[in-house]
This record gives sequence, structure tokens and C-alpha cells, in this order.
Amino acid sequence: MSRQDDLLDFADTVKGFMPRDEGLALYRHALDRAERAPEGTWLEIGAWCGKSAVYLGAAAEQSASVVYSLDHHHGSEENQEGWEHFDATLVDPVDGRLNTLPAWQRTIAEAGLESTVVGLVGPSSVVASHFDQPLDLLFIDGGHGAEVAWADYEAWTPKVVPGGILMIHDVFPDPGEGGRPPYEIYLAALESGHFVDVAVEGSLRVLRRV
Ligand code: SAH
Ligand code: MG
Repeated sequence: MSRQDDLLDFADTVKGFMPRDEGLALYRHALDRAERAPEGTWLEIGAWCGKSAVYLGAAAEQSASVVYSLDHHHGSEENQEGWEHFDATLVDPVDGRLNTLPAWQRTIAEAGLESTVVGLVGPSSVVASHFDQPLDLLFIDGGHGAEVAWADYEAWTPKVVPGGILMIHDVFPDPGEGGRPPYEIYLAALESGHFVDVAVEGSLRVLRRV
């Protein structure tokens, strides 16, 4: 088995919200971008325990690209106690808050990706306003509430270079299947005229900046 096959199998074992077929699509489209533009700067919003970062990292590693994996690590609304995606094992006993940073660090270390996947810990909007590096690839999978999703769209998508890739997770055209904001920002990206559709895999949309 190759290093990349091992990484993709390992990603499948990491706790998180990315089905394998979507993770593999994330990997393939990232690799395609990597081949066109090596040594790229990539960023994902929404790190959780590092699952999508391993899929992206597996592609980045082959092209000397770096993935910034951004999260405040306290979870989204639906991850809090009493909500659908709560996981009591991720609560920090010291302050009672959700904290996915230790799990994220263990994932990236175990994957051997510490020089490829670099954590950015803080609110997305704060980091965005102090981040000037153009992005070859942007993966939006952070908060899914309207305010946060639109803030991510507005702050981060302008940083994607022409030819760069924008991927958005949890895009559900059917309101019965999931929340609206990821779908709305996907539509906005198309309507802006700056992005065109490249591919769909499950709830993952892949676009390219024209
Ligand atoms: N990509 C991950 C899943 C991300 S879940 C995987 O593959 O498993 C969404 C994440 O977004 C949560 O970890 C949450 O803490 C983070 N998040 C939500 N709103 C945020 C914000 N405003 N700034 C930074 N991170 C945020
Ligand atoms: Mg998601």
C-alpha cells in the first residue's frame, strides 16, 4: 500500500462528518489542483477532529502545499450538549466546554502530517481579516448558521486565486435534507460570476474560480 492509500484509509477512521466518498472527492479535486499549482496555500474552515484535513493533507503532501486548518475548536451549535451532534467525550473536564483541539492534534500527528497541515485556532472572521495570503484551494465546512456561513463566504472566497478551487460541504438543495446557508452561499458563488461548477459528490460541491 502506498503512503497515500494508507492516509486515505486512516482518514476513514477519524471521528467526523465526512463520508468516505465525499472525502475521496475532496482528495481527488485537491490533488488535481496540486498538480496544476504545486506549493499552494490551502485553507479549510471547520477542522473538528482533523478528518477532512487528512484527506486534504494527503493531496497537499504530494505537491509541497500547505493546508491551514482553521477552527476555534469549541464546536458549532449542533455540536453542543442537547443537540444532534453532541459528543460527550470531546468535553474538556476543566472548563466544561467542547474542545476538539487535542483530538485534532492527535489526528494530524498520527497521520504524519504536522509539516503539511497547520492549525489556526480562533474565530474564522478574526483570522480572515488578518490573512492576506492568496488561496489556491478553499474548503468551507465551518458553522452552518446563516450569519457564520455568510461571513465565511464574504471574508474568504475573495482570497481564492483565478483557477483556484472552492469546495463547500453540506450543500443540500432539498430543504428536507439539511440547512439552507451552505446551499445559499454555493448559489451566491455561482451567481457572482467568479466561480463555475466543477463537480458534485454527495453534499460536497466543487467550484473553480474563473
Ligand atoms: N471538516 C470537519 C468537520 C467540521 S464541523 C470534518 O471533516 O470532520 C464544523 C466545525 O466548524 C466545528 O469544529 C466548529 O467548531 C467550527 N466552527 C464553527 N463556527 C466557527 C467559526 N466562526 N470560526 C471557527 N470555527 C468555527
Ligand atoms: Mg460538513
